[in-house]
Amino acid sequence: MQPKDLLQLTEQFGSPIYVYDAEKIKSQYNRLTKAFSKVDNLRINYAMKALSNVAILQLLREMGSGLDTVSIQEVLLGLHAGYAPEKIFYTPNGVSLEEIEEVNAMGVQINIDNLSILEQFGAKHPNVPVCIRINPHVMAGGNTNISVGHIDSKFGISIHQLPHLVRIVENTKMNIVGIHMHTGSDILDIEVFLYAAEILFDAAKNFKNLEFLDFGSGFKVPYKKDDIETDIEELGKKLSKRFNAFCKEYGKELTLIFEPGKFLVSEAGSFLVKVNVIKQTTSTVFAGVDSGFNHLIRPMLYGSQHQIDNISNPKGKERFYSVVGYICETDTFANNRRIPEIKEGDILSFRNAGAYCYSMASNYNSRYRPAEVLWMNGQGYLIRAHETFEDLLKNQIPLPIEATV
Ligand SMILES: *Cc1c(COP(=O)(O)O)cnc(C)c1O
Repeated sequence: MQPKDLLQLTEQFGSPIYVYDAEKIKSQYNRLTKAFSKVDNLRINYAMKALSNVAILQLLREMGSGLDTVSIQEVLLGLHAGYAPEKIFYTPNGVSLEEIEEVNAMGVQINIDNLSILEQFGAKHPNVPVCIRINPHVMAGGNTNISVGHIDSKFGISIHQLPHLVRIVENTKMNIVGIHMHTGSDILDIEVFLYAAEILFDAAKNFKNLEFLDFGSGFKVPYKKDDIETDIEELGKKLSKRFNAFCKEYGKELTLIFEPGKFLVSEAGSFLVKVNVIKQTTSTVFAGVDSGFNHLIRPMLYGSQHQIDNISNPKGKERFYSVVGYICETDTFANNRRIPEIKEGDILSFRNAGAYCYSMASNYNSRYRPAEVLWMNGQGYLIRAHETFEDLLKNQIPLPIEATV
């Protein structure tokens, strides 16, 4: 989609808004399936925590995707969007036995990531097909907050506890049908990923009734021109070959699963804001926009660098700006960034705003959350309205009159 389309959508729907390009989501999905076309049974479960709008879920469902969920509410949203329960995986961390049992009762594949719950669940429901999340302790991941495979990570059952894990499975006679790993976001080195995969293959040999191996996700996408990204095609070539060899060795055609979030939706998203004010200090020119970390927290939370385009003046002379939000505390989107000259009223577009942007938005400073628009077949579909004052008051209960005097 073109910058002029984005500009037109802000005129049509106002700012700030999130816009998602359906074509980009489709092409990423197809790119991944193509990279693994040598694997007979491939399954892609979209990690919906990245972007959970029901229209996006519908779009991916129509393309044949399954869902990876991390909470019972995500499962409910997935069912609401028309996914069959058997197309949904549930990969939570640190949730209660009760929630896992509730999700299991809905017919969704559960994935257990600690020995304590595994033992309790196995004792009560020995016949339920269960997937287990292994932590191979391989460091893959940029920011320490998104690396989940390291030795002190809270995720998964440590590979060093494999003997204990096998003992629990034997004692409870539970039915382990899958093994899972998810080493974290931003895989830069395919060899590191393949090394972690070897650990998973090794662990898999301990279980006789497997149906699938789930390699999680963590594919890195480019954030700017010439940025490094996970080489999906190379990974596809190498891992497919190794996976097929493993299936032979294991004696059964297993299903290979991935659960990408960022890879599918990050680049499809643009976040559009309007410049409220240009403020010059002795050393910096600030562009203050009609949004803040309440709508897009990733720069403040992870230090992520979203490219910012001035789509009102794309050919303007480049100058240095610090782009800041309107939240009343430090709220920086970008420091000293070269951007074509900005005037008050211009529309700025943040790239890579599809994943972990709207889904992390809040009402901090009592601001409304933005609208969301899906761009499909040359047309913008409003898929979530701007919030209103009623939304802020919803569920709030004022004190009764007599208690206020
Ligand atoms: C968040 C998450 C993903 C998706 O990670 P991306 O980096 O967005 O692809 C996949 N699997 C699990 C278990 C997750 O928690």
